[in-house]
Amino acid sequence: MKFERPRGTRDFPPDDMLPRQLLADTLRSVFESYCYRRIGVPAFEHLELFTEKSGQEITENLYAFQDKSGRRICLRPEATASVARMYANELMHLRKPLKLYYFGPMYRYERPQKGRYREFWQTGAELVGAAGVEADAEVIQLAVDCLDALDLDYRLSVGHLGILRGLLADHGVSEEKQTSLLGAVDRGDTEILKDDEDYRLISCFQDVSYASGVDDLGQFVTDTTTAVASAPRAKDAFAELSELIGVLEKRNVSFSVELGMARGLAYYTGMVFEVSVDGLGAQSQIAGGGRYDCLIETFGGPPTPAVGFAFGFDRLLDACFLQDVAFDRRIIDVAVAPIGDVVRFEAHAIAGELRSRGLRVDVDLAGRKLKAILSQASQEAVPCVVIVGAKDLKEGSVTVRDMRLDAEGNAAQRVVNREAVADAVYELLNS
Ligand code: AMP
Repeated sequence: MKFERPRGTRDFPPDDMLPRQLLADTLRSVFESYCYRRIGVPAFEHLELFTEKSGQEITENLYAFQDKSGRRICLRPEATASVARMYANELMHLRKPLKLYYFGPMYRYERPQKGRYREFWQTGAELVGAAGVEADAEVIQLAVDCLDALDLDYRLSVGHLGILRGLLADHGVSEEKQTSLLGAVDRGDTEILKDDEDYRLISCFQDVSYASGVDDLGQFVTDTTTAVASAPRAKDAFAELSELIGVLEKRNVSFSVELGMARGLAYYTGMVFEVSVDGLGAQSQIAGGGRYDCLIETFGGPPTPAVGFAFGFDRLLDACFLQDVAFDRRIIDVAVAPIGDVVRFEAHAIAGELRSRGLRVDVDLAGRKLKAILSQASQEAVPCVVIVGAKDLKEGSVTVRDMRLDAEGNAAQRVVNREAVADAVYELLNS
């Protein structure tokens, strides 16, 4: 009996997994360079954790089910709600601001297509307990540093939900209606928007943008301040956004401001941002995030400002492939070739010594001939082969072969003392 994978899921054979691992390592090292600490959250949560803020409609896009005791459960579609729940339940005593990051699979019941899966991975960071522009800027900078560490070309757009929500709120539009309207804006649902009275309050911002380093900041600030003058909450939000623009420009971050950016998730309250990469097709957004100052309180914690973002890991990797980011595909530093059965014990002993010196070592287990081992090693770009032959070994030596060919196309090899094999291998790898 043969089985197919469930729709929207993928297998990752070793050659596909390797760049994923390397990308995850790069992101991890950037997150940790900002002193963010990794956390884990459950793969499934109570469904209410997601419907509480976003309404029942989102159930349509979730893997939601009843467990055997009748509990309404859902596979996590994202991790921010879980982080907020965890904070409200048990992390409040930790020193703030608290810097957290996560990496793991998320599940959404969506129509699969290129760059959109039902099981996909996110790497995200959450900065909890820090209000204000400096914290917003740090989170954006963290995302930018990850992208720069990969040498990617990307577009960063920044907005502020406080402006749109503020305009609506100052005209008496309920929070619930604001959220459903912003959801429609985010989805680009013109059918709903075209007849909506309240949408008219914010539609004039749909195409207002500012490009850092290109447009006149003074003019943009003056025009927008005038446009929001009659809505005090929107005015405050824009003042905050202007400050953030100033900070990002001083740091030489390249970005655009999109006043109409809505972001679909209901919990955002302030700054929002998105990163996209050209050439990825319809699913070009590789990261998204923003400030969510009310979520922790919603989950029973004290009022706690927080800001965060997530990379869509699979799309980020697609962007790396698209832009030819080089991944070091070497997995073996040294291949050990036992020539004949009598030397096998010693071959494994040598491999053990090399591994304890931090090298990745593969011993031929198939009893292949030297020629086959060397040809496989050169195919797999293994830089060094240690040849363990019975005659050599009797004389207390082994052969260390440099698989990198010289100008004439020859591989150099030398016979070294058995005891000095690790030093000889190191010298070769560092030469
Ligand atoms: P969101 O939590 O919706 O803000 O998504 C954050 C990032 O996750 C997006 O920018 C995408 O890159 C990625 N993402 C969201 N949904 C999917 C999906 N179904 N498949 C692959 N990546 C996704």
